[in-house]
Amino acid sequence: MQGVGFRPFVYAIAQKHRLDGFVLNDGDGVVIEVEGGTTALDGFACALREQAPPLARVDTVEARRLEPTGETGFQIRASGMAGGTALIPADVATCDDCLRELFDPDDRRYRYPFVNCTQCGPRFTIVTGVPYDRPLTTMAGFPLCADCRLEYEDPGDRRFHAEPIACPVCGPQLSMSIEDAAEALVDGDIVAVKGLGGYHLACDAAREAAVARLRARKLREDKPFALMTNEPALLVELDDEERALLSSRERPIVLVRRRADAAVAPSVAPGTPWLGVMLPYTPLHHLLLAAFGGSLVMTSGNRSDEPIAYEDAEAQKRLGGIADVFLAHDRPIHRRCEDSVMRAAYPIRRSRGYVPGAISLPVAARRPVVAVGAELKSTFCVVRGRQAYLSPHLGDLDSELAHAAFQTDLELYLAMLSIEPEVVAHDLHPDYLSTRLARQLELDEVGVQHHHAHAAACLAEHGETGPALALVFDGTGYGTDGTLWGGELLRCDLSSFERLAHLEPVPLPGGEAAIREPWRVAAACLERAGEPVPWKRWELVRQALKVNAPLSSGMGRLFDAVAAVLGVRESVTYEGQAAIELEQLAGDTAAEPWTWRLGDGTSLVTDCYLALRAGRDRAGIAAAFHETVAAAAAAACAEVAEPITVVLSGGSFQNLRLLGSTRRRLEELGFRVLTHQLVPPNDGGISYGQAAVAASRLF
Ligand code: ZN
Ligand code: ZN
Ligand code: FE
Repeated sequence: MQGVGFRPFVYAIAQKHRLDGFVLNDGDGVVIEVEGGTTALDGFACALREQAPPLARVDTVEARRLEPTGETGFQIRASGMAGGTALIPADVATCDDCLRELFDPDDRRYRYPFVNCTQCGPRFTIVTGVPYDRPLTTMAGFPLCADCRLEYEDPGDRRFHAEPIACPVCGPQLSMSIEDAAEALVDGDIVAVKGLGGYHLACDAAREAAVARLRARKLREDKPFALMTNEPALLVELDDEERALLSSRERPIVLVRRRADAAVAPSVAPGTPWLGVMLPYTPLHHLLLAAFGGSLVMTSGNRSDEPIAYEDAEAQKRLGGIADVFLAHDRPIHRRCEDSVMRAAYPIRRSRGYVPGAISLPVAARRPVVAVGAELKSTFCVVRGRQAYLSPHLGDLDSELAHAAFQTDLELYLAMLSIEPEVVAHDLHPDYLSTRLARQLELDEVGVQHHHAHAAACLAEHGETGPALALVFDGTGYGTDGTLWGGELLRCDLSSFERLAHLEPVPLPGGEAAIREPWRVAAACLERAGEPVPWKRWELVRQALKVNAPLSSGMGRLFDAVAAVLGVRESVTYEGQAAIELEQLAGDTAAEPWTWRLGDGTSLVTDCYLALRAGRDRAGIAAAFHETVAAAAAAACAEVAEPITVVLSGGSFQNLRLLGSTRRRLEELGFRVLTHQLVPPNDGGISYGQAAVAASRLF
């Protein structure tokens, strides 16, 4: 463990027990040698385990008896060899002590945007190598001034060995004043703000013209923007769990229900009752929000779903056409890391604040593994033994830029962890960029079916190996028969799976176009059922059925088709949009499930259509549809009966009504239900699932 004030803590307890010796970071962790009487040594060992500072997570303590060497005094020694296995800490939000200094006119760091200490500040994003010491961070180019050096070397100071320590005299500087940046925001400008793991694009969240301009320039039509605010209670309804998540030291974006009276421009999050909000997490954010006085849109510095820009020259080039003003600084970002996004019920994106923290696997990999993930919401995962290191969110892996980012970030990760992978785990889809990258690595390959990876991720994060049943409801994933799957009931363990039930495939007229235009799928369903198709343009499109209509059993397509039939949305601008709006339409409307067996999606789409024609209200139909899918999914499990553990995974289970209803129905039937808590149910969790499967198959 490094960068969490652990060595100073060791120093302090060694002093207290009057022990001689030393502490140092070597590449594998912290090494302590202490010399003294038995009582003192026992007291020291006890304090070591029980009084560790809040950020320190002690995984293991190994103790050995040595011959006394006659040490005198206790020292913090320079670090040992580089390139070991010790974990780089995650970035931590500004702590309360540093915040007090930031706004204290008598403090020498008053209004200094880079204040930090052993308990807070940049870590992962500035570390260039292990062990974690200032020369191996992007702070290497800022020699300490005399005052900072005194603090850094004083064991009694709260900045004792705080590696990124800085002050206005010796540390990084802004490219423009906070006041000028805030003024630009007040004027309605778009400001590119250099943050921890990349650039954000910021604008006044209450000002429609500014937000609409940002959308137009960023080429992002409807996908919601996140907000940064000091007063979340004015914008959203928060329960205790959400409030705790919001102010946790990871400071994720938390997706919560918006208040009806929230002063937020319509273009921030069109068509959804949810708002993604976060609190400021760097001193620069705190100063900017204080000077601006309201809430800001804070969205990743990129166009659409490209990787976030993080290098200064690159940001100027890529964001120059979007931002009016750049609020930058001269502390380099060594690796990109996007904001994390969480719901109280499950993670949506596990990134800044959480990475590179390891997630355990229930089985140890006998050889080092890299798992390359899927395509959308791309991540990779590197495994040594039982430890799985999931990468930050990389964006959608379908552009040149993403391709390059994936390779850069993977190299940085492998170097940081000193891992040379021998095995690569990948999706079965032959055309995914990640699959092609996997082939290029020339390692032993483990192909993992997409939905098996989803299920394995959920099992593994709970420390389980199965066997279990798995309901995996998803947009799209390549099946072992070459068709697209995604409405699956599997029986699986970590190594293998069996497909027990699934949605019947429906044609996607026009292929990818049918994913962007769900009405096409709805039309194909209605035509198949012999019902009139209400869309005139179907005449032009139906030809595609003969030439380009791949089959898909994806649950996402079923939700899309029902959304189209109910007039919720006929075409989408981002993944999941139609399903999100269908969930919103259903709301809390009470409904009983219809008679339907998990399988024939066409008939369910048709039932929704007929109910609408019969004059039933749309909300009631949407609610009945949700309950029908949940009830049929639970019934399908009941039919199989065993094992009694059911995992729920796949992007469709981000739908809270579907998730809640399915879980409740399964539990009523006596099943034990596992859902995602550590990795996302969407494709951001796929690489971890692939890693779990590979580890298990290598066993
Ligand atoms: Zn601090
Ligand atoms: Zn200084
Ligand atoms: Fe998926």
